[in-house]
Amino acid sequence: MRPETKTDVNVNAHTKAEARLPVEEAGWQFDNSYVRLPEPFYVRIAPVPVRAPCLAILNHALAKSMGLNFDTLSDENVAQLFSGNVLPQTADPIAQAYAGHQFGGFTMLGDGRAILIGEHLTQAGSRLDVQLKGSGQTPFSRRGDGRAALGPMLREYIISEAMHALGIPSTRSLAVVTTGETVLRETPLPGAVLTRVAASHIRVGTFEYAARLNDGAYVKTLADYTIQRHYPDLFETANPYLALLRRVIDRQASLVAQWLLVGFIHGVMNTDNMAISGETIDYGPCAFMDEYDPYTVFSSIDYQGRYGYHNQSRAAQWNLARFAETLLPLLDPVQEKALVLAEETVHAFPGIFQQYWLTGMRRKLGLLTEEAEDVELIEALLMCLHEHHADYTNTFRMLTADPLPDDTLFQDSAFAAWHAQWQARLARQPESKAAAYRLMRASNPAILPRNHCVEAALTAASERGDYKEFRRLLGAVADPYIDKPEYREFCTPPSAAERVQQTFCGT
Ligand code: AMP
Ligand code: MG
Repeated sequence: MRPETKTDVNVNAHTKAEARLPVEEAGWQFDNSYVRLPEPFYVRIAPVPVRAPCLAILNHALAKSMGLNFDTLSDENVAQLFSGNVLPQTADPIAQAYAGHQFGGFTMLGDGRAILIGEHLTQAGSRLDVQLKGSGQTPFSRRGDGRAALGPMLREYIISEAMHALGIPSTRSLAVVTTGETVLRETPLPGAVLTRVAASHIRVGTFEYAARLNDGAYVKTLADYTIQRHYPDLFETANPYLALLRRVIDRQASLVAQWLLVGFIHGVMNTDNMAISGETIDYGPCAFMDEYDPYTVFSSIDYQGRYGYHNQSRAAQWNLARFAETLLPLLDPVQEKALVLAEETVHAFPGIFQQYWLTGMRRKLGLLTEEAEDVELIEALLMCLHEHHADYTNTFRMLTADPLPDDTLFQDSAFAAWHAQWQARLARQPESKAAAYRLMRASNPAILPRNHCVEAALTAASERGDYKEFRRLLGAVADPYIDKPEYREFCTPPSAAERVQQTFCGT
């Protein structure tokens, strides 16, 4: 029996009227393992009801892949569900506790505006967190209102879905519901709740939190839980905790390499925004860069460029060092040895990252074999792009055109020299040029949610309630590796006037 909580009261209030709630019909299979962890890891708390929930968008494809079906529910019922006003009885809502290094400084945190309603088990056997974001105050809210504005929630929805479509591990977005309430930021904005689906919400910051509580006991509890949930094969290894560190380092190296390959800038790589599962999480001021510039920073709060494009691998390694520190008591009973193990493991990150990046870059250039000079070839192209302010996405895509399209970059003599070198490199591999170009088209997206398109779509949706553009863009980014003439407008880089210079957290 779970204890009588605010949740039970809330749900019961609704269940009295109706024996079986419509929201039960969707096919939920909740099995909430996180609440079986010791109490300090979470607080049981229900979402704070909202005044007038209204469904803005529902991700039918994701629902289907989760074995959920909302077709028999009215939009009103779906809105009641995804606002948190009415939860299935098998939900067991909690706010998770965690800590984090934010821009280098340590803070105790927790879900200040999110509620994990439970873990849904799919037919295929995956366990997925279902979290409502913008669901009201919790004991972790500090001075925040626990709410979210519609624009940033739609932004997370579209960019996370685009990431998934690109093949990059990411949390997903199941629904956005408007609340009928206003949230006060710099200006009054429409409130909304996003339903986020994640492999889990265990963060580097969750381990930092456990490590702060006591010396090793809670970290062991959390590490065992994490291994069981994400990487059960590691229990077979001689040192599962060292293996966990290695695995998480590997997942992050792969993830951040994939971000760089598509020109993605996360923007707030604090340790509380780094998921142990290796999924991209917390889409705040993130953005894809248009013209190639490794020093690109979009986030309005990232004054020093700590989380700028080319700093992301360094930031990831810094976070992983914080993760390693929490594991020290588990790595070896002799702490000097544990320290050496942790250091060796974290120091391997740059090499692992570089390998993922190089493998991805080779694919972007159609290289099916490996040559020692490939790094120079890749860097020479990037330098050309930088000098010419060339569009990162379109340039790689255009390289497969024969002849090359009319573009100022392609008129340049330095580029011509590079192009000849690249063509010679392609000719040296046994595979045909057609095979190389096929690989390139499968590795270089044609369509991304470019900042100026996202902003225009969000403005129309959140200021005028017009979702036409948002849905069109969502449709376009769902299939990013195919050229579709009907979506050409989304492939055009922004004009000077359209260019978005800064992105905001929007919390
Ligand atoms: P984020 O920037 O979204 O990663 O959030 C960082 C921390 O601030 C997390 O602990 C959030 O729960 C908390 N937070 C963000 N926005 C709010 C809000 N509006 N009310 C309460 N807490 C918030
Ligand atoms: Mg966060």
